[in-house]
Amino acid sequence: MYHQMKMMMYGVRDDERPFIEQWQEQNHIDVQLTDQLLTEETVDQARGYDGIVAFQQLSYSNRMLQRMTEIGIYNLSLRNVGVDNIDLKQVAKLGIKLTNVPVYSPEAIAEFTVTQLMQLLRRTKEYTQKFEKHDFRWAPQISKELNQQTVGVIGTGHIGQCAIRIFQGFGAKVIAYDKFHNPELERQGLYVDTLDELYCQATVITLHIPLFPSTQHMIDATAIAKMNPGVIILNAARGQLIDEQALIDGLDRGIIGGAALDVMEDEIKVFNRNLGDQKIDYPEFNNLFSRDNVLISPHTAFYTDVAVRNMVEVSLNNNRQLIETGTADNLISTD
Ligand code: NAD
Repeated sequence: MYHQMKMMMYGVRDDERPFIEQWQEQNHIDVQLTDQLLTEETVDQARGYDGIVAFQQLSYSNRMLQRMTEIGIYNLSLRNVGVDNIDLKQVAKLGIKLTNVPVYSPEAIAEFTVTQLMQLLRRTKEYTQKFEKHDFRWAPQISKELNQQTVGVIGTGHIGQCAIRIFQGFGAKVIAYDKFHNPELERQGLYVDTLDELYCQATVITLHIPLFPSTQHMIDATAIAKMNPGVIILNAARGQLIDEQALIDGLDRGIIGGAALDVMEDEIKVFNRNLGDQKIDYPEFNNLFSRDNVLISPHTAFYTDVAVRNMVEVSLNNNRQLIETGTADNLISTD
């Protein structure tokens, strides 16, 4: 008998629904939606489906993965890039095929990063606080100009390259560090050979590298001690790249002049929740959030119409490809 392909999609937000409906209409495939996250408790809802599509900051537990295979599902497609919240060894051991969306809109993250830098340079947080009290004087919040900055870009992949183009458009001097050099940026002579050189020259540092054991806490007290006094640090990559206590000490000592954090070490405690008046049990967050020269955003750099459409369409295409062929263009290697 002909088997009609069926997919189960977890963690669905309302803003994704129009793009999902459009894809369903074009592909004539049944996609069951739930706003629940993919956990050991919810995975059984996918029984009878051919594949699962998911997106969440919460870790995908090994027990959930185990259960997935017990109910006969081996196709898992993530709607985002990062696979740091899933145990790839377990994925390989269980024979699960995993895909991601490697690129959905690098421009979204790059534009957000530059926006945050502009806000820090123009001290908008302080102005907003003053204006809310109907204090419309401009002094003493004198600002800095982006065209006067030396921006050190760490990681020149998809997002880093977009960010570089935008920074250059503003007339900033850009220097870059990456383990692998992009030929076009190399031709422009942007690369420095060591992180120490970048720390020594940059007045702004922006992170666009993945989180690996080797990059965890790369911005620590030792790194910060090498930076220019007053440096601004931007992180829209991964929270654990920065040792938050070292960042706080750097801000206290004036080595760091400001920071914009779209990601944080323990963000799962705070981001994507409506906490109302609840006490926040995250001392570093509370400390950083209270500062005039620190901007925190809840992992929203990616969140644009273009990015969401691509995350939905590419992940559904990936899942369909897995179900139909047993492999996919965006298959994650678990070697
Ligand atoms: P990418 O893979 O295109 O680029 C990453 C770059 O980092 C590569 O050029 C690589 O050579 C370089 N790199 C890796 N390890 C390095 C190291 N130890 N030292 C120096 N360079 C190193 O990735 P991308 O699409 O540009 O994304 C970058 C990061 O942004 C992602 O890993 C992810 O953590 C983060 N991200 C955040 C959001 C958000 O909403 N805030 C959204 C998407 C991605």
